[in-house]
Amino acid sequence: MKGLVAVDGKIHVDPTTAAISPFDRGFLYGDAIFETIRVYAGEPFRLAEHVERLFWSAERTRMKLPWTAAFITAEFCALASGAEEHLHTRELAIRLMVSRGSVPLEDFPSGLPIKEGLVPLRVAYIHTIDPIPTATLEAGVKVITSSTYRPSDAVGGAKVGNYLESIRAIAQARDQGAHEALILTSDGFVLEGTTSNVFFVVDGELITPSLGDTILPGITRRTVIENARVPVVERRFARDEIARATEAFITSSIREVVPVSRVDDVVLGTGTAGPITREVIERFRKRVTT
Ligand code: PLP
Repeated sequence: MKGLVAVDGKIHVDPTTAAISPFDRGFLYGDAIFETIRVYAGEPFRLAEHVERLFWSAERTRMKLPWTAAFITAEFCALASGAEEHLHTRELAIRLMVSRGSVPLEDFPSGLPIKEGLVPLRVAYIHTIDPIPTATLEAGVKVITSSTYRPSDAVGGAKVGNYLESIRAIAQARDQGAHEALILTSDGFVLEGTTSNVFFVVDGELITPSLGDTILPGITRRTVIENARVPVVERRFARDEIARATEAFITSSIREVVPVSRVDDVVLGTGTAGPITREVIERFRKRVTT
């Protein structure tokens, strides 16, 4: 992977030269929100929805953004074309972090309350994409389930900077040779992956956890729902129902659609990417390349 960093819109061709304040609230308290967007052939995919979701996350976290949606939209486009010039590719991802700003020196160390006059900071990471290997797309991946409560659960699933609980869950997954961890509610319902949404195939239908629980409204999730040929049901999905699923897959802007062949000790269907998942991948690829 190759990449660049932009601080408040200014691109640093050598990302190691970019610097932010040690008093930044994103660093001190995880007080930040973000968006990750995929750029296909130079065009940020579903840009308006990403910008809308950034403002939704800001509202959920009581962060006042001093920019308009048009400004953020233009910045994503400028970063995509600026990066193309340096990275020589039009296939990119941009992660835009927005921190609530820096704690004024006179307030440190009691900087936790939200003060008037904080100036939010934008840090964008623009990088090339390493596609998921074809063999993985054929075989599917193993995932585990993990029960935890995340900072994002307190703000209705907003895309907040603090992923500590998800970091613990993915570490647990990697310890068990798994690709992803599915987060469960305390009463045993599947929410989503640490950085992905999830779909199951049951009786030929696609079931995905509904947004009523604290799930990030994934843009890849929405794209899959809009392009599905089989019925899609958005509802609560219990951990115990996983054994009934014949296929499953996870979705995210960076990984697109990744088949799941095993959840904990349960092997799904034939233990490889199933026919409905393959069709979803095909339709998704078609959607993003036309
Ligand atoms: N859920 C969580 C918790 C995520 O962090 C992400 C992406 O980072 C997703 C779902 C997938 O969302 P999207 O498809 O918009 O990338």
